[in-house]
This record gives sequence, structure tokens and C-alpha cells, in this order.
Amino acid sequence: MGLPVDAAVWELIDPDLEWWDETLLESCFPSDIVKAIKQIPLRGNEEVDTLVWHNSKSGNYTVREGFKSWLADFLRQEVVETQGEAEVWRQIWKLNIPPKIRHFLWRFMREILPTGVQVHKRYPRRSDRCPFCGLVETQTQTFCECQWVSRIWRRSEFTGLFQLKDDDSFYNWVKRALEKGEVEKFEGWCVLLWYLWKERNAHLFNGAKLLEEEIVVRAKYLLEDYKIHQGRQKEQLAIQERQVWKRPNQGRVSVCTDAGILGDEGAGLGVVIRDSSGRFCLAATKRVPGKWKVEEAEALATEFEAQMDVQGHFPNAVLESDCQVLVQKLQAAH
Ligand SMILES: [Zn+2]
Repeated sequence: MGLPVDAAVWELIDPDLEWWDETLLESCFPSDIVKAIKQIPLRGNEEVDTLVWHNSKSGNYTVREGFKSWLADFLRQEVVETQGEAEVWRQIWKLNIPPKIRHFLWRFMREILPTGVQVHKRYPRRSDRCPFCGLVETQTQTFCECQWVSRIWRRSEFTGLFQLKDDDSFYNWVKRALEKGEVEKFEGWCVLLWYLWKERNAHLFNGAKLLEEEIVVRAKYLLEDYKIHQGRQKEQLAIQERQVWKRPNQGRVSVCTDAGILGDEGAGLGVVIRDSSGRFCLAATKRVPGKWKVEEAEALATEFEAQMDVQGHFPNAVLESDCQVLVQKLQAAH
């Protein structure tokens, strides 16, 4: 569930009631934000929606102000939590899962998800029943007891692995699961938890319903795709982490080679030559098709440099590459 990134404010307003669509708010935001939104009076819909930044008088956002308010929120949050709790949250924020799922987990552990019972407490006209089995919908019912959910857990690889003990809090449940130390499995479990909630909302609000086995498979693929994407980004970062450039001795030039993986488009190779004063002398780039590992691409860049016969033109050249593994191998070979 949740809103598309380009959703506008009017989408949160029920046109018939001319009031906030409270069910939708509950499903998209934590309760304190819902409360704040509901305090905003509505004056009909004659105005056009625009984006404003609430921390500045002009309503315009600046990175400086954004960072300041983020930092203030962050510090406030840290103070409230005890030492032990802070450590658990630190581990949660470190998980290799999509940020929205980390945020969901936080709400799950705080037990502030708008389940039937929670919503019914504040809006007695709203049903407190589970959309799947018709029983009273608590968080325990939603994630552990519901027949629909039980069938999904049984189809997953997590059966019996992370069991909720009677009368235990969801916070402790997650904490215990974390303590098992099987991080990858734990991450898979978190994604399935989130998917269950997503499907519950899709069913409640749109009447949509996926097959149970499909949910298990989709949750799995979602995490796999995310990890592949993250892995690619890390690889890119590793390439970008440059060594500090060392100035060559008087009269010599330094030759830097570098490479970048361009996904399906192959690898990009680059050679830069600078003199002892750091002045730029020459640069050349080249793209090679095919799939390459970081090390291979770095080696190709060195080969590219050799083809240009840099050493022939600049006999005093000092070769540099920011790929440590390659430099070590080359040094060992000589
Ligand atoms: Zn149910």
C-alpha cells in the first residue's frame, strides 16, 4: 500500500465528506503524522496544490534547512531510546533491505500499524475485522494467527524459524529473531512481513488478492532484485574511491588509469596524464562492450594505456591505478 511518489494532497481528501480520508492516512503514515495532518483545517478545494517546505517562512526548501531539521529529529529520537534499544535500532537500520521496509519494521516493532482494532478504537464506525478471515484484527492476528497468513508462512522458508511466543511484544519478537544471527534469512523474513501487510492493505482497500504462493515468491524476488541493485552501486563506489594523487618527481609525469562498470553497456576506461606540477597533459577514454568484473576492467584500462604507448612518449612516466589488487599483481609480476 502507500501513495505514489507524485501523489497530491487532494488524493488524501474524501470528496464526499470534504474531510481527510482517515483510513488512507492511517495506512500511509505513522499515527503521530496522521494526528498532525488531521489538525490541518480544510477550507474547500478552490486552491491548487503546491509543494511547500514547512520549516521556512517562504515555503521554499533548502538543503541547509533540510539537513538541520533532519539532524534535530535524529538527535531527539536518539535521546528517547535507551542504550539497549538504540543497539537494536542500529542493527535494523543496517539491514540490507529497502528503506521503506526498514521503516515498516519500525512501525511493526512499535505496534503502531493501523490494524482493524487500532482504527476501530479511534473511529468506532470502522470495522475491527480482518479482511481475510473476519476475526478481530489485532497485529498478532494479522501476522501470526490469521488462517490466510498461516498458510503463507507454511509455504515460506521461515516456518517455525521466527516464532512469536505468547504474551511477548513484537519488539522482543524481532529482537530475538535478530539475535539468531542469520542476517540474510532475517532480511527475507522482514520482507515477507512487509509483503503480508502490503497485500492485506491491497485486499482491504482495492479488493485485490494474490495467490499465497505468489506472495512468497514475489517477496523473495523483491529482496533479490534489491540486493543485486545495491551490489552494483557498491561496485561503482569502490571504483570511484580514488587514492590521493601523489605528485611525481620533477621532470616526470604521472599516468592514472581508471575504469568504470557501465552495467549492460560494458566498461569505460580512462587514462589521465599529469606533470609534476599537477598540470593536466592528456586524457583518453574508451568504452569496451561486454561484462567485466572491476579488476578486469581496471586491467583493461592499463592495457589501454599500454596501447597508447604512454611510456614511449614519456619515458619517465609513473604508472598509477586505483585498483589495489591489480597494482599488487603487477608489482609481483615485475
Ligand atoms: Zn484474518
